[in-house]
Amino acid sequence: MNAFDYRAPRGLDEALAVLSEYGEDARAIAGGTALVTMMRQRLVRPSCLVSLRDVQGLDRIEAVNGSLRLGALVTLRDAEVSPLVRERLPLLAETCRRVATVRIRHMATVGGALAHADPNQDPPVTLLALGARVEIRGARGSRELPLGAFFRDYYETALEPGELVTAVTVPTLPAASGAAFLKFLPRTADDYATVAAAAIVTLESDGERCREARIALGSVGVTPLRASAAEGLLAGERRGENILRAAGAAARTSVDPLSDHRGSAAYKREMTAVMVERALAQAWDAAQRSALAR
Ligand SMILES: Cc1cc2nc3c(=O)[nH]c(=O)nc-3n(C[C@H](O)[C@H](O)[C@H](O)COP(=O)(O)OP(=O)(O)OC[C@H]3O[C@@H](n4cnc5c(N)ncnc54)[C@H](O)[C@@H]3O)c2cc1C
Repeated sequence: MNAFDYRAPRGLDEALAVLSEYGEDARAIAGGTALVTMMRQRLVRPSCLVSLRDVQGLDRIEAVNGSLRLGALVTLRDAEVSPLVRERLPLLAETCRRVATVRIRHMATVGGALAHADPNQDPPVTLLALGARVEIRGARGSRELPLGAFFRDYYETALEPGELVTAVTVPTLPAASGAAFLKFLPRTADDYATVAAAAIVTLESDGERCREARIALGSVGVTPLRASAAEGLLAGERRGENILRAAGAAARTSVDPLSDHRGSAAYKREMTAVMVERALAQAWDAAQRSALAR
């Protein structure tokens, strides 16, 4: 590891000022679970680490206008066990529970999980399916982006140098909705996914036909991605094996996986179809239960 300065500001403005002072050579550090590994491997050599751990006000989970807002310093463990997240966004709590081990989840943060932009991560998949928006602050002000526009490429986001993720805002599901997150890991239970799929189905008032389906996938492209072709097949349809299978097959056309030690590209493409079909079946069943309970 290279020598570096270390700063631990207590306020956001101060953190942004230090990032500006050091320019592109500075790196924010939150939980450190990804960055420290990258530094050990000499993939990054920052001249200054700006710790966000003491920055006040970034660790809250709050309900805001039909959404939940999670500050960037909320840990994945906080999101997993928060009563508010479990009640309003159980899909997100369950997704966080599936990340790595509890030791990693106690350190890794929501902001770090987004800014790191590893396409094999789980929370971004579910956040993309849920239609989350990222709040960004820089020295020149604030902006907000839908998650789909935030991820640009392999480990690359829309963050400009000196900008920080400050929060993510996640809409809760409409009535008569059901959701599922499936992570296919043929190796160990704490591994990254070979394929991850999040599906959300919202039904019409008849409790039968699909009003909207949202499907997001991880580990099968350079960013987490939406399976738009599959989603498009489902609107107006009733649940049936054929339509679920067709949606799985359509999802295969949206992905462009890399071959690696978790599977060949062809295998991941096949498993995409399987996982999408299963996630949709679970989400649709949950949506029907939700519609019946109204
Ligand atoms: C052994 C191991 C297993 C793992 N398994 C999984 C898994 O199964 N599923 C999964 O989803 N993930 C997994 N992860 C990845 C883990 O989720 C990420 O490492 C973590 O989310 C990163 O968050 P962090 O707070 O530790 O980020 P850090 O390591 O502190 O930072 C990561 C990057 O984000 C930047 N950054 C951090 N916070 C901000 C911010 N607020 N604004 C702007 N930039 C910021 C940093 O500058 C750095 O570039 C695993 C990690 C490890 C080490």
